[in-house]
Amino acid sequence: MKKMIYDLNYEQLKEWLLEHNEKTFRTNQVFGWLYRKRIQEFSEMTDIKQSLIDTFNEEFVINPIKLKQRQASKDGTVKYLFELQDGFLVETVLMQFDYGKSVCVSSQVGCNMGCTFCASGLLKKNRDLTSGEMLAQVMYVQKELDKLEQRVSHIVIMGTGEPFDNYDHVMNFLYTVNHDLGLAIGARHLSVSTCGVVPRIRQFAREKVQYNLAISLHAPNDELRSKLMPINKAYPLAELMDALHEYSTMNNRRITFEYILLKGVNDQTEHANQLAQLVKGMNAYVNLIPYNVVDEHGFKAVDFAAAMKFYDKLMRLGVKSTLRKENGGDIDAACGQLRAKAEGKL
Ligand code: SAH
Repeated sequence: MKKMIYDLNYEQLKEWLLEHNEKTFRTNQVFGWLYRKRIQEFSEMTDIKQSLIDTFNEEFVINPIKLKQRQASKDGTVKYLFELQDGFLVETVLMQFDYGKSVCVSSQVGCNMGCTFCASGLLKKNRDLTSGEMLAQVMYVQKELDKLEQRVSHIVIMGTGEPFDNYDHVMNFLYTVNHDLGLAIGARHLSVSTCGVVPRIRQFAREKVQYNLAISLHAPNDELRSKLMPINKAYPLAELMDALHEYSTMNNRRITFEYILLKGVNDQTEHANQLAQLVKGMNAYVNLIPYNVVDEHGFKAVDFAAAMKFYDKLMRLGVKSTLRKENGGDIDAACGQLRAKAEGKL
């Protein structure tokens, strides 16, 4: 597999250029070609001499991911299935919101977290994605948007994979996406979502960055959460909440809790009460997510009335929350469904 130039962050590219006897100002030039002009071939860099272009071609590729499938939903959601250089498949989703265009990026091929409701876990992890492969997903979508003179304004790492099981690559990816000479997307428009890998949450708290943190909570007590999400056995709620309090104190940032409403499982009044208790006093925000049914798992989605009831209860208990509308329900847009289907697992 040839190395992707997108894998190199600004400083690494600078170093590479220095090693090849180039001046440091070339870093800005090359970064500009890659992320502003979004070239597909090194030969497009008209102000770079041929010998350097040849060396780039010998060592790197720009964006080798191939589109295998593309599904567009009536609501503007687009789902992409990409093939990586070694043949593995990953999914990416573009979502249109009134505040902008958000790309949902996959961070691993498959996932080992084993959440019982999730389609991604139907396929075990094959490998981590590199930061360049995550960038490649965004760049592909951005190239499409370029034709409409539109821009990716937000990124969420909520596709297949557990980003905090691939920490360094994820941080390197965000670094380039956020970099002034990279895609220059503001840190507050970048979100990482984790099922609760506590040591990495503590590490994340110490980064000098302003990215958003989202926690996939889905259950307000240990008994239920351990049933739904195996990670809870390794890092139960008390430990998770302790790490989050630390993150909050250090960063003064609001934390988003994601909570899928599963019919008859976590949607009762007692769960709303426990949830309110759990996040009490925290700068928190609960995102109630409609469940996208994965037939294999047997869970059912709640109807709108039940979701509203849960939402009202939370509001009355003083918990800030939103009831997220479903995007792309007509195109298998949830969590690994497209890939699982392509691989014959759904
Ligand atoms: N591993 C990370 C990020 C990927 S999952 C995490 O757990 O946060 C992104 C979000 O989608 C998580 O909140 C996950 O629990 C949720 N999700 C998984 N399967 C879903 C489904 N079928 N319907 C709706 N949301 C789902």
